[in-house]
Amino acid sequence: MSDLHTREGEGVTCTHGMPTPASCIDCMDDDGLGAPTTAPERLEGPSVASKYDTECRKCDGSIRVGERVYLTDAGRWVCERCAGEIQGGL
Ligand SMILES: [Zn+2]
Ligand SMILES: [Zn+2]
Repeated sequence: MSDLHTREGEGVTCTHGMPTPASCIDCMDDDGLGAPTTAPERLEGPSVASKYDTECRKCDGSIRVGERVYLTDAGRWVCERCAGEIQGGL
């Protein structure tokens, strides 16, 4: 029993050669923390009246001329209902 000084309890060593698991993509990937966090979509600005008959980029619902449409920070136009969902964080 000469192995009392193992640091198993700390469990913070990277097995891939990086100094710390936090700097290792593989470790973060193993923990599921490395996945790119997709920031929740947000509304980019005030609504505008659609100039065209088009479709909501989120729900594919039809948008008629004159309906309120909202631009999101993902660069897509969404209908009023979807804008409400985005604002409500759903
Ligand atoms: Zn690693
Ligand atoms: Zn929609």
